[in-house]
Amino acid sequence: MDKIKDLKNPSGPVTLKSGHKIWVDRNLCIGAATCIAVSPKTYVLDSEAKAVILESADEDTIENIIESAKACPVAAIIIEDAQGNRVFPK
Ligand code: SF4
Repeated sequence: MDKIKDLKNPSGPVTLKSGHKIWVDRNLCIGAATCIAVSPKTYVLDSEAKAVILESADEDTIENIIESAKACPVAAIIIEDAQGNRVFPK
């Protein structure tokens, strides 16, 4: 069973080991699952077909997670660096 990183905020925001903050805008997410294809360690779809963030996201590289955000057809994945600067989407 895949573990959700933060059960209170399944789609984030969550802070990764790298210090980056990541979240999925559930209003935008259409469940296309492209993010899961790119970063299977980081996301899974919940029962509402919205992407949620897995505990194993910390094992993923930030480069791969940025790739997954870029791959999302509706730009629903938002990433900030440890200083709070927007990494994606710009
Ligand atoms: S790729 Fe985007 S729209 Fe598709 S499941 Fe992931 S966050 Fe949602």
